[in-house]
Amino acid sequence: MTSTVGFIGLGNMGGPMAINLVKAGHRVMGFDLSDAAVAAHTGAGGEKASSVAELAAAADVIVTMLPAGKHVRQIYQGEGGILENAKPGTLLIDSSTIDVDSARVVSAAAAEEGMQMVDAPVSGGVAGAAGGTLTFMVGGADEAYAAAKPFLDIMGKTIVHAGGAGTGQAAKICNNMILGISMIGVSEAFVLAEKLGLDAQKLYDISSTASGQCWSLTSYCPVPGPLPSSPANRDYEPGFAAAMMLKDLKLAQEAAHSSGAATPLGAEAAALYSLFCNSGGEGQDFSGIIKFLRGS
Ligand code: NAD
Repeated sequence: MTSTVGFIGLGNMGGPMAINLVKAGHRVMGFDLSDAAVAAHTGAGGEKASSVAELAAAADVIVTMLPAGKHVRQIYQGEGGILENAKPGTLLIDSSTIDVDSARVVSAAAAEEGMQMVDAPVSGGVAGAAGGTLTFMVGGADEAYAAAKPFLDIMGKTIVHAGGAGTGQAAKICNNMILGISMIGVSEAFVLAEKLGLDAQKLYDISSTASGQCWSLTSYCPVPGPLPSSPANRDYEPGFAAAMMLKDLKLAQEAAHSSGAATPLGAEAAALYSLFCNSGGEGQDFSGIIKFLRGS
């Protein structure tokens, strides 16, 4: 069935995600502050909305893909925003990576207006957005998840219902906190091996089949050589930029503080990525933290 989808935030991720909805036969009205992003959308068969209010009033389903929680709160709850203008019954999907508290506040406000909402952040990067192979981590009521699933299936390959409102964001930041910590741990081990005269390939061969095995080692090895596909072999060109890792680690720390969870290694990982970004690493792949730890 063809739906009218409103898509707000047509950037690196949202642009190709919206195009996949167009290709699946939906009418997709796009809105973005960037004229270039809107032009790319209309050039690929999408329509242009001149305001959030116009888009919200026309859409059956609204997807947002925005930078941070403040943008999401503004677009949903601000004057001229989605909640003020959308019809009751409109399905709302926020795929931005934002703080858990904002996700829960906006979802509750949507429910008060008679709208179903899911938080559905993604992993898979720009390639996954273009290829329709994203992983969606979805928080929301069962009915909202069931309503969103056919649209998420178009944009992604793996769709996981994590639980109630906010749990999609919780899954995303918990996963990326593991990733940030483990990448630092693996990098420290390679730096120590260098100092001890242990060849990087030998450490890889041993640890990849021993108890040190983890994704940061065997799927994203931070030294060049052992794994040709990892960004280390392309001078740490992202991949997943250190600035994005830092954003997610900060969100994890915000959530840890507001929930009272003890995450000392998460805090240390956020501090180290902050130093790495401030010393010029923000545009590099997050595995480039090894250069910072090595001091070169
Ligand atoms: P981006 O900066 O490329 O795109 C964001 C878009 O939102 C921009 O086009 C911007 O003009 C638009 N925008 C900002 N404020 C707006 C407003 N008030 N009204 C309308 N449009 C507005 O960012 P991105 O890389 O597409 O990331 C989007 C979200 O996805 C972020 O939350 C990010 O953390 C998350 N994410 C990104 C990646 C990635 O690899 N890029 C991977 C996973 C998750």
